[in-house]
Amino acid sequence: MNAAALPVPMRLLPDSAAVASDGTLELGGCRVDDLAARHGTPLFVYDEEHLRSRCREAVAAFGADRVIYASKAFLCTAMARLAHDEGLLLDVATGGELFVARKAGVPAERLVMHGNNKSLDELKMALTSGADTQARPGVRHVVVDSFDEIDRLELLRRRGFPRPRIQVRVTPGVHAHTHDYIATGQDDSKFGFNLANGDAARAVERLLVGDFAEVVGLHCHIGSNVFAVDSFAKAADVMARFASRFDLPELTLGGGLGVAYTHDEEAPTIGSWGSVLLDACRAMNVKANVFVEPGRAIVASAAITVYRVGTVKDIPGVRRYVSVDGGMSDNPRPVLYGSGYEAFGVASVAAERPDAARIVGKHCESGDVLIFEAQLPKGLKVGDLVATPVTGAYGYVMASNYNKMPRPAVVFVSKGESRVVVRRETYDDLVRLDVD
Ligand SMILES: *Cc1c(COP(=O)(O)O)cnc(C)c1O
Repeated sequence: MNAAALPVPMRLLPDSAAVASDGTLELGGCRVDDLAARHGTPLFVYDEEHLRSRCREAVAAFGADRVIYASKAFLCTAMARLAHDEGLLLDVATGGELFVARKAGVPAERLVMHGNNKSLDELKMALTSGADTQARPGVRHVVVDSFDEIDRLELLRRRGFPRPRIQVRVTPGVHAHTHDYIATGQDDSKFGFNLANGDAARAVERLLVGDFAEVVGLHCHIGSNVFAVDSFAKAADVMARFASRFDLPELTLGGGLGVAYTHDEEAPTIGSWGSVLLDACRAMNVKANVFVEPGRAIVASAAITVYRVGTVKDIPGVRRYVSVDGGMSDNPRPVLYGSGYEAFGVASVAAERPDAARIVGKHCESGDVLIFEAQLPKGLKVGDLVATPVTGAYGYVMASNYNKMPRPAVVFVSKGESRVVVRRETYDDLVRLDVD
């Protein structure tokens, strides 16, 4: 049989996935059909223990206070608290992400400020956040991305703002094998200071000479959803060589570890990523403390999205279209990057999937596709629940209100309990910002 028609591989599902005696999927000890009945669809369901276990795996691999969760992958109050509870620092890339993390109770000194175009206001926020509660004001460090940003930091210091700790983001010239939109380490990039043309060295030197900031380290991030660990080793090697010129106490090697989305993909574990990175650093005699910034690898496979089938349309000789009650508004990745996903029937998670179909959403776009070539259990029909695994990263955070679709609810499940961590939007929410 076509491998895609086999049952969905359980390894793509959250750790706590189990099959009830009637064949229905359970997560965190909760029946997923009950969750859908209770919380509606589309619904993001996160396995809380799975999230915690990936945080712990990262801390075990890299050490306490060396793992910075890239919050853009999935951020809400509950997630910020969970990552903080597990001893991770948090990377925030905008004033909005900083606000949410602080509002969740994460101390500023546990935050790292990122972004290739931080505004003066965002920098002020990063430099003064937590001033009332911690010995030293501001976020743990700011990752500086451009000469314009260095100008802004110098200006703020002249105006009496606190002196920030700085890591300098370097573009190491390593092209990660991933989608072009999420490759960031190559020379042609909007991120960081180019290593090859000397900008990176000029940035570090300027910061070291001026005394408006304390340079504590260097940073790189070569891209996202990278499967080839040798790309990470190559970047570590290039960065270690460059870092040896400055003797700084910290080196951040970014995030970007890939995850398997489909039956034919296999990703390295966080533990093996850790071995490769730390071995490369040891081989280069790196003395600095090594930090990493995983996002996707922590959250992606912790969640599934549950939809209800509303329409099944057979076009003989062409294909079958299965329309669900969400689409590009809750998962734009297939449209943005052509990303692949699997689907399965919630009532028959262990069943073979002989029926081919295209799973589409309900938006007014032909491009509103969730899965171009899906395999589904036999006879999936209107009213049935269908789910896509591995939607925990860059899913809800990229959700939109296109076609005035209220954004879905997000629930965490654990030990037989479910709790809503982001409520479903209502129609009233859709006019909340309208002024008459
Ligand atoms: C997005 C991003 C990450 C996390 O990437 P993942 O692929 O989700 O691990 C880490 N660091 C920086 C600077 C990023 O922009």
